[in-house]
Order: sequence, then C-alpha cells, then structure tokens
Amino acid sequence: MDRLRSSAIRDLLTLTARPDIVSLAGGLPDPAFIPRDRIRQEMDRVLTDPGSVQYAETTGILALRKVLADREGARLGRLLDPAEVVVTHGSQQALSLLAQALLDPGDTVVVEDPAYTGALQVFRAAEAEVVAVPLDEDGMDVSVLESMLTQGLRPAVVHTVANFHNPRGVVLAADRRARLAQLADSYGFWVIEDDPYGELWFEAPTPDPVAALSDRVVRLSSASKILAPALRVGWLHGPREVCQAVELLKQGADLCGSSLTQQVAAGLLADGPWLAEHLTELRGRYGARAKVLVAAVENEFAGIASVSPAVGGMFCWMEFYGHTASPVDTSVLLQTAIEHGVAFVPGAAFGVGADLSSQLRLCFATSSEDVLVDAVRRLRGAYDGSAAESVVQS
Ligand code: PMP
Repeated sequence: MDRLRSSAIRDLLTLTARPDIVSLAGGLPDPAFIPRDRIRQEMDRVLTDPGSVQYAETTGILALRKVLADREGARLGRLLDPAEVVVTHGSQQALSLLAQALLDPGDTVVVEDPAYTGALQVFRAAEAEVVAVPLDEDGMDVSVLESMLTQGLRPAVVHTVANFHNPRGVVLAADRRARLAQLADSYGFWVIEDDPYGELWFEAPTPDPVAALSDRVVRLSSASKILAPALRVGWLHGPREVCQAVELLKQGADLCGSSLTQQVAAGLLADGPWLAEHLTELRGRYGARAKVLVAAVENEFAGIASVSPAVGGMFCWMEFYGHTASPVDTSVLLQTAIEHGVAFVPGAAFGVGADLSSQLRLCFATSSEDVLVDAVRRLRGAYDGSAAESVVQS
C-alpha cells in the first residue's frame, strides 16, 4: 500500500463536480452523446431472456465474445476465436488482471512518459519497477526503448496507448508499431496495447494494431468511450494461455461480469448499421469540439503556449513555452484556474521521470463548443492572474 497514490484525476473529479467549475479535467464522454434510448430499447429486449439476470461465464457471455472476436479479428486481418477474448469490467480490470497474470514483484514494466495514470496505479500495486520511455508526436519513442534493451533492460511488459494517447493525444506511427512488435518477439516481453480511443478518429483511421504484428501482444479495448462507461464492458484478446490465466484471476476477483450489460453491449455492437451511424456521429461531434478547443487555445495563448493537434480521442496537450521570466507550473496554475472556474489536469499527474510541470491535459469531449471557448477564456484569465501574482511575489 505504501507505493500507491490516489489518482490525481479521480481526486480532481470530486472537486470539479462543483457546478461553478467548467471541468476539462476528467476524460468523460458527454452524456448527451451516450445512446440512452438505444440502450433502453436493448435493455427491454434482453430482459425478456431470464439469462440476462443470471450469473454469466467468467470470460463473458458467448454472444458478446463472438461479436468482439468478429470486430477485433477484422482489425487484425485474421479470424479470431471467441476463446481468445475475455470480457472484463471495463478495460481497467483487464489491466489489473494482466498485471497479476504477467508480473512478479520487482519485474520491470515499461510505460510511456507521460503515462496513463490508471496503468501506473496498476503496475505500482503489482510492485513492478516502472521504467519510462519518452513520447513524441509519433507516439512512444521506440528507438529509446531499443537502446535500453541493447543496454540490458529486460522488461516483462511494455504498456502502450498507441491510439490517441491519454494524455498526450498522439498516435504511434506504423513503422514504430512494426519495430515494437519485432522487439517484443526478439526480447520476449509482452506488449499491452491499451486502446479505448481507437474508434474515435476524426480524420483517418489509425494504423494496424500492434497485435496484428506479433503474438506477444495483448490488446485491450472498451465500450466506455463509444457506448457508455456505465456498462463497464471492456475486453482483451491475446494468446490463449494469457486468456486462461486472466480467467482464473477473474474468478477470484468477481466470479463474472454483468450478464445484463454484456447482453446490451452485444446487441448494440452486433447492430452493424446502427453502430456505423453512431460512430460516424460521435467522430463528427467530438472532432468539431476538438477543433474549437485547439483554435481557442491557439487564439488565447498565442506566443505563450503550444497545443497539440487533436486528431482523435478525447484529449489535447498544452505546453507553456519556457521563455518567460517566470516559467509556468501548471500544478500552481490549477489553483488559480479553479478560482476562475475552470479545471484541467496538470502534466505532473502523468509524469514518470520527465518534468511535465509546464504542461497540462485538456479534455474536449465533455463540454459543448461554447463552454469550451469560455473555459479557455477563463484559463487565460487564470494565467494572467497567476503571472501578476508571481510578479508581486518576486
Ligand atoms: N486505458 C486508458 C488509456 C484509458 O484512458 C482508460 C479510461 N480513462 C481506460 C483504459 C479504462 O477505461 P474503462 O475501464 O472504462 O474501459
């Protein structure tokens, strides 16, 4: 327990639930985009089956594993057997069970820097040694990983959010995916390809998954961002021995997931025409918000900070330039920002080794265009306020 820290983001969510604060902090889908009517219809339909309120198979109901095997198999470009799929309580549970299955205390895990905080919590709880590899505009810098391996690093697991990284927003380039897959094969580590955002592309679909390129990959995805987080339906697929280990651990963790929400998810994911239309709509709506947020930041912070182009997912990443007399510390800025009625996640919350104190994550998914523009104005007000304060203090 000594190694565990509360997630800065979960803590912020409590604070930012205040109605006077516009939160760009959490990674929450807009409830207005969650297909509640379609979920209600499906719920009514599945409730006519007594099995929908019964315990389920530990690895998930077969109807859902079949539709997931079809969808994931299409991305891999090969047939995927439903026995190679395990449904989990959100993809977060997949991460947690995989850490138990694949790691012994003291094993090395490579993560990206900045990293997904939920993965850091899981790997720290497993008493792993966490080693960070930097990210750039093309995702994990695989050449840095390669030189670490050449110098003797022997990770058990490499974790990557290859599509629309949380928090950085970037996509792992195709050549880096291929190299990562080769390195996994040569050095015998597992890759956890953690992909809850891949379907939310705004301009072009993402490159082939790393799982299509090596058998040493366990791929995770989720219904949270495309259907609803409250379904708590996530999944993993990978080699059978990994699925079997996860199944054993899941028996001890929760016996099984919810038959009810799994049947609902199966119904929605199997309804091809509806799903295609729903995804097109989500991409359009989130893409429009991303554009507005990026433009607002570019406008309000010209010459002060840069913002990453948002090409998918839910986040963009802002970095204050270091040329000003008093460099911005975003953890300090957050306090002033809250007084101005806006919240974000400071970069330091995601840092492993890197100094991310001048950076921050903004979520464009939860708020409408107007609110996003207003939030960025408030952020500019907070920046001006804290700059004035630091002049007074110095
Ligand atoms: N992986 C990443 C990279 C995430 O951003 C999240 C959610 N924020 C998850 C996994 C877990 O999501 P869920 O359990 O809802 O599928």
